[in-house]
Amino acid sequence: MIRKIKAIGEGICDILYPKTCPMCDVALGGYEAFLCEDCRIKLIPVGKPACLKCGKEIEDDEQGSCSDCQSIKRSYEKGFPALNYSQEMAKVLSDFKYNNMRSHGRFLADVIVRNKGKDILSVMPEVIVPVPIHKSKLRSRGYNQAQILSTELGRRFGIPVDCDLVIRDAKTMPQKELGPIEREENLKRAFISSKKIVQYKSALIVDDIYTTGATVEACTTVLHSMGIKDVYYTSVCIGKGL
Ligand SMILES: [Zn+2]
Ligand SMILES: [Zn+2]
Repeated sequence: MIRKIKAIGEGICDILYPKTCPMCDVALGGYEAFLCEDCRIKLIPVGKPACLKCGKEIEDDEQGSCSDCQSIKRSYEKGFPALNYSQEMAKVLSDFKYNNMRSHGRFLADVIVRNKGKDILSVMPEVIVPVPIHKSKLRSRGYNQAQILSTELGRRFGIPVDCDLVIRDAKTMPQKELGPIEREENLKRAFISSKKIVQYKSALIVDDIYTTGATVEACTTVLHSMGIKDVYYTSVCIGKGL
């Protein structure tokens, strides 16, 4: 009965506030859960062959790992990015991150589960760790998009989420303004351990987008320092890299 009332309530909400497509903003039909029909084909899952380390799509003639992973230190075990970055996804992720579209979290978690759910469950990480943001940013923005994603993923996979294992400490320069080496230096100082005693042997770092890998590398170093041996990451999108 309660479930029925809830369903009716949600139905009324949909009439009053029809859900819109996160990519093109048209109102969604009742059968369209997250995206309109036209935009569905604009999602580009990461294809094969893929880099054995970061999970990025590679050319056939590249061997095993992408050129970035061959030249840059990667301390994590393996990455599970769901989609190739695109203009359409840039809008969705920007709204999710900066325009208070927290409700996109369900859709974006769904994208990860559909594309990389099996792979993630095959390594069965013991804890999910969102990439943290600085608390002053959290105050001004009101939420951390990686945390919303993590909560959704944790619920779907049945894996606990720990938002306090890795803390964002120093205020860093915006990464966009820096080159790859500076990015890494900038980020090394940014993440610190909560000094919690942990029993976990493996962890899954969650972020909305993976670009150079510097953020994941910095978080992995912190998790290793806490004794968590196997670190993986997942992201909604992966960029072209350096
Ligand atoms: Zn659309
Ligand atoms: Zn790679």
